[in-house]
Amino acid sequence: MFDVAIIGGGPGGTTCAALCAASGSRVLLLERSRFPREKVCGDCLNPLAWDALDKLGVSGEVLCSPHIKLEGVRFFGLDGDSLRVPLPTSSRPELGITRGRLDAILLQNARNKGADIQEETTLTSIKRHASHWQLDSDNGSFSARELVAADGRNSSVARLLGLLPPLLANERIGLQTHFHSPDGLHADIELHFLREGYAGLAPVGEGTANLCLVSRSRDLKSIKAAAIQKYELPEKQTWRSITPLSRAALLPTQESLWLVGDAARVVEPFTGEGIAYAIRSGALCAEAILARRPERYLAAHRDLYKGRLWVNQLARAACLYPELGTGFVRFGKVFPQALRLLTRKVVRS
Ligand SMILES: Cc1cc2nc3c(=O)[nH]c(=O)nc-3n(C[C@H](O)[C@H](O)[C@H](O)COP(=O)(O)OP(=O)(O)OC[C@H]3O[C@@H](n4cnc5c(N)ncnc54)[C@H](O)[C@@H]3O)c2cc1C
Repeated sequence: MFDVAIIGGGPGGTTCAALCAASGSRVLLLERSRFPREKVCGDCLNPLAWDALDKLGVSGEVLCSPHIKLEGVRFFGLDGDSLRVPLPTSSRPELGITRGRLDAILLQNARNKGADIQEETTLTSIKRHASHWQLDSDNGSFSARELVAADGRNSSVARLLGLLPPLLANERIGLQTHFHSPDGLHADIELHFLREGYAGLAPVGEGTANLCLVSRSRDLKSIKAAAIQKYELPEKQTWRSITPLSRAALLPTQESLWLVGDAARVVEPFTGEGIAYAIRSGALCAEAILARRPERYLAAHRDLYKGRLWVNQLARAACLYPELGTGFVRFGKVFPQALRLLTRKVVRS
């Protein structure tokens, strides 16, 4: 019998696992992949994450691993008009770092703190008993008193418990790939508003760039073809994909069930904040589990996103309607704050 079972070894799950295990709880973490693994993400680590990374004791290791200190964001409108907004310079900057590297550091840290990590293990069913959860996987059955869903935007835990909200009609799809960094990218993120959706390009260290494309399924082929041509990518380039990009939020805790990161709330990828929210909500969840105070997690989770939800809506609108995004670029030339609003990358150090 474990005290806490965590499903998902992304930043939310591993943060929660490390902090619970460090306090003496018996922690199980099930992860369906074998690490290191890449995933659909822009690979930009927002400075909001640093405090929690310090608490986990991994900041030094993250900074020793290959990465790029990001210096600015360049926004491109539909007409090619562009605007560069510098990122604050700081010893705790925004980083371009692959998820393969970042997530492996966080997973190993949870293991070092004493969590029992089972990789290549997929949760397949859940039974709730009066005093515990029974969890079945393709690699055995487990029991735990508390269950943490840290399994991302398509949370299996939420689906198996009948909590996953239905997909919004005509939802967008995200594509991601890595390739040799194009000339001139240096240390800036590029965000391009496109007729079909948007593209994000960021350097991630060792001469590699991350490219993300976001569009509705009807435009996927053409946005991908344009990117292949623009960046001279081979036809057999490996692309990862994910959907949905938007989803209704779920209650972060109820009756020994806890949800962290994307499983609880998905933010617009354009803002580049999802990893930081996952890490911070994982830390808040661990604190509440250890204190046996679910109401504390409800309040802290609400505060974590407070003041950012309307920005998230604005960013989403700018992505859904590229004319609006282009308007922001033009307006931003006169009032740079307009673009600062769209991404916290720009306002926090
Ligand atoms: C196109 C795009 C670009 C993005 N760019 C950025 C960015 O630049 N910066 C940023 O901060 N955020 C970005 N995000 C968001 C970010 O990727 C997520 O917010 C973040 O990964 C959430 O972390 P998490 O720990 O909640 O879940 P995840 O990182 O999704 O981890 C969930 C884990 O659960 C595992 N899992 C799932 N189901 C099961 C199961 N049944 N059994 C066992 N394991 C399971 C998965 O294998 C996975 O490892 C982007 C998202 C998209 C779609």
